[in-house]
Amino acid sequence: MSKLVLKCPRCGTVQYVKGDGPCWKCHTMVVFPKDGVIQVYRMASCLGKFGYSMEIYINGILFGYVGYNEAIRIPVPYGHHHVMAKFMDYKLSKYKGIGLECDVTPNNRIVYLKAARVIPGYRTNTTILEPATAEEMPPV
Ligand SMILES: [Zn+2]
Repeated sequence: MSKLVLKCPRCGTVQYVKGDGPCWKCHTMVVFPKDGVIQVYRMASCLGKFGYSMEIYINGILFGYVGYNEAIRIPVPYGHHHVMAKFMDYKLSKYKGIGLECDVTPNNRIVYLKAARVIPGYRTNTTILEPATAEEMPPV
């Protein structure tokens, strides 16, 4: 399952959409950028059964949460974007994150990223965010 996520420019509500349409909260027409898409897939292959949400930020703006084995697609205009994935740390006291820079251009309109949280040791954990290919994404 992959979801298209947009942030309403007027009230800031993050919502899942199928296309252009009114914001469910403030009814502003939300038209999403047609230039490109950043797709983030949270891999289900990591160790442990930590089901905590992963937060996805684009250019410092929270765009939503990705559950286990889920993907979100975020329409973006052409340009340079900073993507960040954040997870709660093992004590559930603070978020730890990792960032990645990417460029969305007419020749590279869809940027695929895969994210995971791996727990190599009892008291350590690492968040992974790295480029991926379309074949590594779950079916839409
Ligand atoms: Zn709104």
